This record gives sequence, structure tokens and C-alpha cells, in this order.
Amino acid sequence: MNLKPIPADRLPELLRGMPKAELHMHIEGSLEPELIFALAQRNGVSIPYASVEDLRRAYAFTNLQSFLDIYYAGASVLLKEQDFYDMAWAYLQRAAAENVLRTEMFFDPQTHTARGVAMETVVNGLHRACVDAQAQLGVSAALILCFLRHLSEEEAFATLEQALPHRDKFIGIGLDSSEVGHPPEKFARVFARCRELGFHLVAHAGEEGPPAYVWTALDVLKVERVDHGVQSSKDAALMRRLAADRIPLTVCPLSNLKLCVFPDLAQHNLGALLDAGLVATVNSDDPAYFGGYLNENFVQTFAATGLTAQQAFQLADNSFVASFASAAQKQAWRERLQAHFAGF
Ligand SMILES: [Zn+2]
Repeated sequence: MNLKPIPADRLPELLRGMPKAELHMHIEGSLEPELIFALAQRNGVSIPYASVEDLRRAYAFTNLQSFLDIYYAGASVLLKEQDFYDMAWAYLQRAAAENVLRTEMFFDPQTHTARGVAMETVVNGLHRACVDAQAQLGVSAALILCFLRHLSEEEAFATLEQALPHRDKFIGIGLDSSEVGHPPEKFARVFARCRELGFHLVAHAGEEGPPAYVWTALDVLKVERVDHGVQSSKDAALMRRLAADRIPLTVCPLSNLKLCVFPDLAQHNLGALLDAGLVATVNSDDPAYFGGYLNENFVQTFAATGLTAQQAFQLADNSFVASFASAAQKQAWRERLQAHFAGF
């Protein structure tokens, strides 16, 4: 659409108020230190941090693995269905307050089943929060089950079997955790099976890993979206492929900053991805750990890189286009976005 000029000093207000979708957020990564301590106390779990402040201080990461070590420690407080509900509900309330109309949340069942928590405890708690979000907050929320890529494909198959009785409660399959050394093709057979079963498919690729991982996510796993994918800009042929096939990238700027994928936000390639015609989106990844929820990702990235109102519109529109909602629902959200910009 044709936008009237919007001064840069009004951009934060525009970014916070615009309707948007979030497509790359790990629900276990929304666990705030306060909730970790509350759940630890409720469940009688001991965690290796003396206080909320002590835990928050540990959030100085040097790479993906240093984050994952703390992330798995935090998740250890989740034991009961209500714990999973409370975690998701806390995020969904924030999402509603940030004008997120649609969220597709990742969850990692293996992080919990490995500790003896039943699959149904995890899925039922998260799904109940999604149902309540639609009814009470007006947020459309769906779940994507992720396999942990540092584990084996056999373990992914076992997880899929455990989850299938609940298949009406999640819409897709993803692949996350430690990327380097665990290329997408390690999960070729289980993704083929998930595809037969009719699930939407996504995978993390090209966060720290090379463009080759994005190629195999596309050509071997046959994903519909690539999570992160920022390393794709090192491969011109890959950039052309992503643009031609309109494969969305779910980019997470503050995560990239915290995990040192880019030395500072001003050097982030989000603008370059948009300029190349890619369906890029902005997302928060693990917001409790990376210093901000979705609106903070938008506001800080725009301030650092000088992106414009036109690009804000494009990113929000991309987020609806790239979602797995129905065509009619997407169209309704896109019209709401246009009305928001027209009335700003
Ligand atoms: Zn992620």
C-alpha cells in the first residue's frame, strides 16, 4: 500500500501499535526468572541459582550453547499441566498487550519427557492456554512441536509416536537446539513421515550454521519456513531461491545480538533480506533470555538500522502471510494492518 510519510520519532509508537504475528517463539524461552523461582518453590525443585538476580546475571551468553545450558536448567521447574499452562498464559497475555493477533509457539517435548514428565501433561497445559487465549484475549494461538536436533532421529520418531494421540492440538513440526554439527538431513526420515501425516514443517537453519543447512532444510526436509536463516545472505543463489519460492524467514534480531551472530544490531542484515525480496519477519525467539519481547525486537532493530515505516508495514504484512492460519483469516488480519497504517 501507499503510505503517507511517518516521522522517525513516531516509529516506536507505530511499531508497538501495529497488528502483527509472531512465528518464532519457544514457549520455554518465555520463562521469566520470577516464574522459574515461583514454580521451583511450588514444585519443590532446587535450581543452581540463589536468587532471581543471580539467575538474571547468568544471562550473559557467548554463543548458542552457553544459552542452551541455562535454558534447560530453567525448564527443569516445569512438572505439572498447570505449570505449562501458567508459562504459556504469561506469554500470551504479553502477546495480546503487544498487539500480536496470531502466535505460533514452539515447544520442546523432549526437554520434559526426558525428565519423566508425560507428553500429555505438556501438550494439554499448553493447548488449554491457546484455547483460553482465543476466548479471553482475542489472540489466535497454535503450537508447533520441535525435535531437539542434538538428539537422534530415533528419539525424534519416538517423540512423534508419543505425540500423535494429541495431533489435534498442534499444527506443525520444527527442529531446534544446537545447530552446528546437526544438519537438517539428520532428520530426513522423520520429517518425511511428518509430511505424510499432514503437518506443517519448519526448521531452524542458518542461525550459526552455514547456508548449506538452509539448502538441505528446503530440499531434504521440505520445510515451508526457515527459522532464522540469516546466514543465507552469504549465498547469492540461495537468496534467489528463497525470494523466488517466497520461503519466509523468521528472523530474531535480539537473539542474534545476544548470541553474537551479529556484533551489534546496526550490522544486522534484516534490511538486506527485505531489499532482496525475501519474506522476512521479526520474532523474539526466547524473549525472557534475550532481553525483549516482540515489540522490543522491532523498536530496537528499527532504531539501530534505520528501517522505515514502509518496512514496518512489510514486516507485519509478511508475518501474517507467512503464518499457517487460513487464507480468509490472513486476509482479515492484513486488512486490519492496512487500516491501522491508514489511520495512524
Ligand atoms: Zn529459535
